[in-house]
Amino acid sequence: MDSNYDLVVIGCGAAGLAAAVSYAEAAATQEHRARIAVLERATKENRGGATRWTSSWFRITEDRRLDPNFIGQMEAVSGGRADLDYCRTLEREVPGTLDFLERHGVALIYFKQPFPNRNTGGGLGMPARGGLGIVDGLAAAVDGVNGAEIQYETEAVRLSLSADGGVDGVVVRGRNGMPRTLNSAAVVIAAGGFEGSPEMLARHLGSRGRDLPLVAPTLENNRGDGIRMAIEAGAGTAGQFDMFHGEPADPRSRKPDAVVYAFPYGIVVNRHARRFYDEGKDSFDATFEEFAFEIWCNQEQKAFLIGDQTTLAIEHVDKIILTDQPPLAAATIGELAPLLGVDPTALERTVAEYNAAVGPGRFDAHSRDGKCTRGIDPPKSNWAFPLNSPPFIAWPLTCAITFTFGGIRTDDSARVVTPAGQTIPGLYAAGEVTGLYYRRYPAGTSVLRAATFGRIAGAHAASAKAGARRAARR
Ligand SMILES: Cc1cc2nc3c(=O)[nH]c(=O)nc-3n(C[C@H](O)[C@H](O)[C@H](O)COP(=O)(O)OP(=O)(O)OC[C@H]3O[C@@H](n4cnc5c(N)ncnc54)[C@H](O)[C@@H]3O)c2cc1C
Repeated sequence: MDSNYDLVVIGCGAAGLAAAVSYAEAAATQEHRARIAVLERATKENRGGATRWTSSWFRITEDRRLDPNFIGQMEAVSGGRADLDYCRTLEREVPGTLDFLERHGVALIYFKQPFPNRNTGGGLGMPARGGLGIVDGLAAAVDGVNGAEIQYETEAVRLSLSADGGVDGVVVRGRNGMPRTLNSAAVVIAAGGFEGSPEMLARHLGSRGRDLPLVAPTLENNRGDGIRMAIEAGAGTAGQFDMFHGEPADPRSRKPDAVVYAFPYGIVVNRHARRFYDEGKDSFDATFEEFAFEIWCNQEQKAFLIGDQTTLAIEHVDKIILTDQPPLAAATIGELAPLLGVDPTALERTVAEYNAAVGPGRFDAHSRDGKCTRGIDPPKSNWAFPLNSPPFIAWPLTCAITFTFGGIRTDDSARVVTPAGQTIPGLYAAGEVTGLYYRRYPAGTSVLRAATFGRIAGAHAASAKAGARRAARR
């Protein structure tokens, strides 16, 4: 088997596939045949990492630009620690990324949200088939390139380094377990975060980190290998290693992405039947990460969303309840409590206190209506209506991990840099494997940045190759 490549990409999600396709596209304009290997630890049927399972909401405006509030939000939520040059590059390149995806068979849709109170700049776009559309579309584009291949059930073990400290290949292990080296002047690490590594989760989040369930199954392949390999080669890091993006998910469900976002339209209680979070603090996509983190960090990983028939009657509420399990239901709160394993008297008291505290005003699910509680702690700041329309309903909730925040440090050309900011020749990284977020994740930007910086990495590596060819001809 020929083991010489122009580009080796570690990972077959949005970032890795975008890198491979973008390299091939650039090589075609430079009229050289690109030899590209994309490594995927999973089988072909399970390819695509996190990208495979995401709905892939894009935080974009109607004219296909990144939400103009994004950079300000990143600066604010990270306390000034996020790399704003990286964010500005993302903002500049998002329109090009959307064109790139469409050019390579990924159909996109855009719509005004049924919940315009969302924290995403007014509207949202997404691939018509979610993240799977990106995986299938870009993988087909790779398959269509003469000289490119996706090597399934093949894991990258470590980087091969040249004498000058640059990267000249990847040591891989395939189905037969024997290590072999793929030689390449350029390597893009796009191997996702470390949510699939209980050991790394425990190291960075504390011992309870290893108990976090994954929000989707193939996240188990994202074991922090890319971060480890890059650090071994001298890379710096960025992003908050002891923080992650989690979501409130239904623990009864085996379905990937079985999340329940409807918590602003009811109340949430812990296993002691006590409220612990301002359910109406902001739109669900501004608070779901904080809410899920609170369940994991301070509520013993267990909570319940309690609602009634008014909750279920809210227009489009079904669109934000993605579990395949029906809610538990009972005619009275006292009868609902045993189904949840909580004390009936305590739950009745909590609901009665909440109902009595609901203030006046007009309920409007589609804007921050200011209809709040008075005199209870925690308050409910919006969308407070009394729970008095039986049957009463409840969804059990736990915090499921979606992705980690800490990763490799890169520059705005997706080149991996050392702690001192120097580039490591031949080494690129993109997507979740790179660190960006601190404290909070402004939703709808993770796939966009994966595809964008994957595209940038591929184009930069192709142009470096073209430069080297020109120099060799002189
Ligand atoms: C259920 C769910 C919903 C989400 N919703 C959204 C959303 O609406 N909007 C949004 O922007 N983001 C969302 N996200 C986050 C987003 O999907 C990811 O951040 C993004 O897809 C990451 O892309 P990636 O290419 O960096 O990594 P991935 O898509 O995870 O790809 C990593 C790849 O690397 C492979 N790999 C890992 N280690 C190795 C190794 N050693 N050798 C070979 N291969 C390896 C994996 O198998 C995989 O193919 C969601 C995620 C999930 C799981």
